[in-house]
Amino acid sequence: MTFNFRDTSLVPIWEKIQKGERLSMADGLALYATPDLISLGKMANFAQQQKSGDAVYFVLNQKIEHTNICVLSCKFCDFAVKKGDASAYEMTTDEIVSKLTPEITEVHITGGMPADWPWERYLDIVRTIHSRYPATDVKAFTAIEIDFFHKKFRMPVEEVLRQLKDAGLKTMPGGGAEVFSERVRRRLFNQKIGAKGWFGVHKAAHRMGIPTNSTLLYGHIETLEERLDHMVQLREAQDETGGFLTFIPLAFQPGDTGIKPRNQFTSAIDDLKTIAVSRLMLDNFPHIKAYWVMLTEEVASVALNFGADDMDGTVGEERIAHDAGAISPMKLAKDQIIRIIKDAGKIPVERDVYYNPLKVHSDRVIGKIPYLNSLPFYHDFEKGPFRILPIVPRRMGILAADNQLAAGLYSLMDYYRNEASLDLLDWCIATRDQVKSVMLFSNHGWADLDGRIIGVTDETATSIQLLRLLLANKYHVKAEFRRLHAGVNDYTGYDAVLLIGDQALYHNRHGLEGYEIVYDLAAEWYEWKKMPFVFAVWAVAKNAGPEMRSALEAAIRESLANTEGRYRAIGELHGRTLRLHPEYVEEYLEGFNYTLGDREKEAMREFRKLAAEVNPGVVI
Ligand code: SF4
Repeated sequence: MTFNFRDTSLVPIWEKIQKGERLSMADGLALYATPDLISLGKMANFAQQQKSGDAVYFVLNQKIEHTNICVLSCKFCDFAVKKGDASAYEMTTDEIVSKLTPEITEVHITGGMPADWPWERYLDIVRTIHSRYPATDVKAFTAIEIDFFHKKFRMPVEEVLRQLKDAGLKTMPGGGAEVFSERVRRRLFNQKIGAKGWFGVHKAAHRMGIPTNSTLLYGHIETLEERLDHMVQLREAQDETGGFLTFIPLAFQPGDTGIKPRNQFTSAIDDLKTIAVSRLMLDNFPHIKAYWVMLTEEVASVALNFGADDMDGTVGEERIAHDAGAISPMKLAKDQIIRIIKDAGKIPVERDVYYNPLKVHSDRVIGKIPYLNSLPFYHDFEKGPFRILPIVPRRMGILAADNQLAAGLYSLMDYYRNEASLDLLDWCIATRDQVKSVMLFSNHGWADLDGRIIGVTDETATSIQLLRLLLANKYHVKAEFRRLHAGVNDYTGYDAVLLIGDQALYHNRHGLEGYEIVYDLAAEWYEWKKMPFVFAVWAVAKNAGPEMRSALEAAIRESLANTEGRYRAIGELHGRTLRLHPEYVEEYLEGFNYTLGDREKEAMREFRKLAAEVNPGVVI
């Protein structure tokens, strides 16, 4: 892909991006320095498309700021007051719960830190919300608040998190990071924990299966080098834990802080550059958020073509930024958010707190399995009259059951579950013998797995069913399956772990700490049945119409024809993100059969018969 760069100094950076090479601090500074804003946006949009396709996520959420009383006095904060101040407030649990309604799927709680609230009061907030609205995910308390609880209530950070998690906490917001520069911390928020403390809390959360967000407060006294250093530190932590869901650049609202004149907001150009640079620097972050509360709706809308793929949500009510003079509305209606996303030419996707799609607000949307092995199908899809939603197989099946997709490459189990409303097409993802990316990492041989606990991926039903069959019918043992934590690479505490897709491929190549034996489930099936294994099949919704079907079939045919014999080249970028050599990528992709022939159909029938015998229709 080529652009007409006005600033040709960007060309070497663009080459790195296309090859999947990591950008340096110097690259980041060059991106900030460029006057070629449009090329910067195109590069960031390209990087975003690799991760999210045409999707932009939003959530129906309610912000709760339970009190503005705070023992700290950060210089940039226009929200906090001291106890006794005329504007001080403290919300009871009942007042908090009264703000929620059943359609809210995420409650986001952050606030001041009063000296006299007991620990039980925080637990009660989380527990009560969780019990009254079990379908509402609780995202609560920044690392600063967790550290405050740890010191005030004399509990280790892990114990604070464990009790909150038991009460119903699902994820944590990313606030309190500000800028990881010690120079800025000493000048603006010297009572707060610095980078080391912030990362300590987040890494502890990730280890415990609590994914978190991350932020950068920019546009005050920080330098561009300090912004980029902040991003690089986050990138390194993400390499280590994989527990960050999103990165949120927060534009500084000057208010009456005196740090900047009251109305001297960040410029739209600085906002867009920061969104784009963060998308390009944070190559291992799944999402970048355009937080409309601080950016304004207009800038957030443009940011959706500068690398952002998340609009936050309806918010409901927000005081922290508005006390500091934010000029955005207090809340947005769901329809307004959908309109903003559609105006930007993207698909509005309503999500939960983990970024699982709940509802797709667009038609002609095709589900794309976001793994390397499906790449040859999608090469020429940009030309088709449809939109692409990358989504893991199990979630694609859930959307298909709700008739929300025009077509998709469905996991075999999901195709069977929804076959009444789907027409099977002529393509699939089938193995010849081994697969290399549906792997059981174990500390025990098959026979010794009886009664053991196996952590199983949250991403598919077919591979789980295959594992269940192998255990029951081939090895005659029974194990207990437990779902792995969504969004967190924490594989501790199991006797074996089942992974699929890119995660499995990566760990098959690089090893999975704590597990010594690796089983390839397709190779196990082949050894047993002497058949290929069909993991996924293409199917189109019966109500999608003949035009849609023929356009899709043409796109698939063209993609497969154009990619045949070129797997090394087309898989190079994706492979690099998994640290795989192009030769290995080529060998891996050559191991698949993408055409649904008679042998594959026979293997499908055999799997279906056995699955029905062993555990009919079970989804764990
Ligand atoms: S930024 Fe947070 S910790 Fe600092 S004074 Fe404001 S509410 Fe308190």
